[in-house]
Amino acid sequence: MQEFDLIHRYFDWAPANPEVALAGGDDAAILAPPPGQHVVIATDMLIAGRHFPESTAPDAIAHKALAVNLSDLAAMGAAPLGFTLSLGLPETNESWLQRFSSGLRAAADRWGCDLVGGDTVRAPQLTLSITVFGSVPAGKAIRRSGARPGDQLAVTGTIGDAALGLMLALGTEHALPDLSRSDRDYLLDRLDRPEPRLSVGQALCGVATAGLDVSDGLLQDLGHMLSASGLSARIDLDAIPLSLAARRWLDAQPAAIDRVLGGGDDYELLLALPPELPLDPAWGLTVIGRLDNVGPVGEIRERGGRPLPGQRGYDHFTEEGA
Ligand SMILES: [Mg+2]
Repeated sequence: MQEFDLIHRYFDWAPANPEVALAGGDDAAILAPPPGQHVVIATDMLIAGRHFPESTAPDAIAHKALAVNLSDLAAMGAAPLGFTLSLGLPETNESWLQRFSSGLRAAADRWGCDLVGGDTVRAPQLTLSITVFGSVPAGKAIRRSGARPGDQLAVTGTIGDAALGLMLALGTEHALPDLSRSDRDYLLDRLDRPEPRLSVGQALCGVATAGLDVSDGLLQDLGHMLSASGLSARIDLDAIPLSLAARRWLDAQPAAIDRVLGGGDDYELLLALPPELPLDPAWGLTVIGRLDNVGPVGEIRERGGRPLPGQRGYDHFTEEGA
């Protein structure tokens, strides 16, 4: 199949978003963010066998590739405009492309983010790179650096599911607890189908003093916020929100708490919020601690005061955590 045919058949949709002024058919796309908005850009690259198992369902690959990028927009408080896709394919497998394309379109429609351009090449292994464009009111983006002593530290959703799901997917040599089929399916789904917290990010744009998404592990990502904001933090390990599946795993294997706190791929938001801000239940936030300047910058202590050991997380260059 010729490249033009492939693009036309699988990746040529009319944009739904009024801010997409031009997409497809010309040399470049045009975005027209509303007046007073800044454009926010994030990009992420995924390689089969490295960032996801080769056996991952094509629609799940598409979902995750877009979701992880949108999670970065959510973390900045931005609303999606559109995205580009660069796809390196080892072969032209039409059934794979059909499933990938419909998964991508479903995700794009769901989050209101149009495919506005891209490129396809032949590559030794499946490689995808997505760049997303979003908009945020000028000067209001949530950054990592604005947190203040006394701020509440809160997370969306539940933490650690994807890291436990990855252990299941890899069939890691560590003993795995005896989980029900539905718990296993739930954790694997959380690994494959992260949910970008776009509405929470936008609701707290201009309210949260700092924030980021948890992609490398809760402790490591909290460390990034602390370094950027020049603070330390105290967290209550018992307050960290866990799914029932993760709770059952930890009951059977308490040592897995290291994976819950240090494993990546949650794509939940970690936010610093003003001390007295009442939390709307619709945000789905759980307060896990407070920011302070009691310890050295970057130090994370438990409720009892004990510093937590080094902030381990996924590192792309060592491949086994920094
Ligand atoms: Mg991020």
